[in-house]
Amino acid sequence: MVSTFPNPSSVDLSRIRLSIRSLQPQLVEWRRRLHQQPELGFQEKLTAEFVSQKLQEWRIEHKTGIAHTGIVATIKGKGQDSETIQNPKVLAIRADMDALPIQELNEVPYKSQHDGVMHACGHDGHTAIALGTAYYLQQHRQDFSGIVKIIFQPAEESPGGAKPMIEAGVLKNPDVDAIIGLHLWNNLPLGTVGVRAGALMAAVECFNCTILGKGGHGALPHQTVDSVVVAAQIVNALQTIVARNVNPIDSAVVTVGELHAGTKRNVIADTARMSATVRYFNPSLKGFFNQRVEQIIAGICQSHGANYDLEYWSLYPPVINDIKIAELVRSVAEEVVETPAGIVPECQTMAAEDMSFFLEEVPGCYFFLGSANPAKDLAYPHHHPRFDFDETALAMGVEIFVRCVEKYFVSCH
Ligand SMILES: [Zn+2]
Ligand SMILES: [Zn+2]
Repeated sequence: MVSTFPNPSSVDLSRIRLSIRSLQPQLVEWRRRLHQQPELGFQEKLTAEFVSQKLQEWRIEHKTGIAHTGIVATIKGKGQDSETIQNPKVLAIRADMDALPIQELNEVPYKSQHDGVMHACGHDGHTAIALGTAYYLQQHRQDFSGIVKIIFQPAEESPGGAKPMIEAGVLKNPDVDAIIGLHLWNNLPLGTVGVRAGALMAAVECFNCTILGKGGHGALPHQTVDSVVVAAQIVNALQTIVARNVNPIDSAVVTVGELHAGTKRNVIADTARMSATVRYFNPSLKGFFNQRVEQIIAGICQSHGANYDLEYWSLYPPVINDIKIAELVRSVAEEVVETPAGIVPECQTMAAEDMSFFLEEVPGCYFFLGSANPAKDLAYPHHHPRFDFDETALAMGVEIFVRCVEKYFVSCH
């Protein structure tokens, strides 16, 4: 396949590799520092201070306090300083900074110092990679002729920092043309990159439902409306949405993760509560599950004389990669991992990411950077109290971003 993104002729790729690899000790140091001071969504105060302090040290123009704790750094390449440049080309790189409410169980020198909070998803690594990319690009501004915005985003895990950052205007002035971002990924081994055009991660929607029946004596069911029986039928029937309503070519999931009812074996419960998560890739299914879930609940409740209270909401849309930008990332990643076998297009997951909000606004590509290394016991899944990743991936992440920047702007001219 002929790449639509030629390599920049003025840039010596082996030089990029060498000078980025020499950044590895700093990348590890920054990552470990961030790992020790994890902070939950919209509370990334120390993290943002650290990022801002580094950017200031390197004289990189940046704005802080966007959507509470977010930061946007702007690096202008060759000839981009002049005010006379009309519609400059702008590539954005996005990194998330937040941690999770998990007590770390790893016994490492850089263990979390914040009780009950842990970087168990690798966002400390994402922040370090974005810092390394900022540092390198600032030192090599002559190697690209465009503007790079680096977006340090709060609260990916919840409640979502991408949307408020977009609302605060981070994709405007100058306007972003394309965006890339990565997730360190322990579902893939170190030395691989998961990248594909189209859907990468699922949309996530949620609902809470209370079935309102009529309680009574367990021996006298004819005097009651048994919310447990109604709820059981609803849980089963909800599975037919995926099995019988969604085109089998489209993947989807309906998971009722919580079901609570009753207090005693001989008492018929008057109410049953359930909560569920819904996932799908195809953006055209937006609104479909909401409608089917309600039809099923309403129909079954009606047939039993029960009532219901349903609350349904959408959390994140699906992560959809642009064909051209995905090809840019794929071609660059292949150079970095040095083997076509290191590129894994079969990397879709029903997990969700609020990078999707950026990708709804501008074309872009989100990709997975393999970070598991079972030989070093670094293969626990994300969100596990023993999650950790092989830090060798840090320099690889910087290298992919840097090469994407240089290649992207060549293709624009
Ligand atoms: Zn996560
Ligand atoms: Zn994550």
